[in-house]
Amino acid sequence: MPMNIAIDGPVGAGKSSIADQVARRLNILHLDTGAMYRAVALHVLRSGVNPLDEKAVAACCEHADVCVRYVDGAQRTLLGEEDVTALIRTGEVSAAASAVSSWPAVRRRMVCMQREIAKHADMLIDGRDIGTNVLPEAPVKIYLTATPEERARRRYRQQVEKGEETPYEQVLAELNARDARDMSRATDPLRQAEDAVRIDSTDMTPEQVVEAIVRRVEEHYGRKA
Ligand code: C5P
Repeated sequence: MPMNIAIDGPVGAGKSSIADQVARRLNILHLDTGAMYRAVALHVLRSGVNPLDEKAVAACCEHADVCVRYVDGAQRTLLGEEDVTALIRTGEVSAAASAVSSWPAVRRRMVCMQREIAKHADMLIDGRDIGTNVLPEAPVKIYLTATPEERARRRYRQQVEKGEETPYEQVLAELNARDARDMSRATDPLRQAEDAVRIDSTDMTPEQVVEAIVRRVEEHYGRKA
């Protein structure tokens, strides 16, 4: 049985960068499942389909050839032969990913692929429904969160660093809207699995969060790091 570690949580909780660091410490791969929904969203946008149109998205998604590769241990996300790793990080794709990921047909395909990927290697998998739905048997589950204000502050700072300045109030409003959509959708909503360890990173440094997760993994699997 490969080592599977599930990390779920709301937008801006730092899952991706924390997961990258934990995976490096443990010398395992990190599967960012959000990137897969983002790739579907990019395909939908390029096809001129409205992300809110469930039927059209479901039909379009059937032709979205999303796949994940690892190059020097880092995830590359592909649409067909095209590496879209960088292209899926725009605000437009974020908004479309939030919409398309609510449709059951999209989720069915992605969840199936994620389970298949997780079967074949030791992996840390981050997303919204990993501990509750994709890998309910994962022996280590983390629910990583922080207050909406702190998550919005972190997002805002990242955007300023990238030179894209959106007012803080708008960042907070968009984050709250994405949380609401993730938590209220009918299929695989974001929620904490009953057996997940909750980590509230509001007053923690990234290093402290990484340590807390590595400790939890070591408690279960024994010292690897
Ligand atoms: O994590 P990230 O923000 O990159 O995810 C992009 C979108 O994909 C999110 O808005 C979320 O709605 C969706 N998502 C999901 N289930 C996952 C991972 C991401 O619904 N397992």
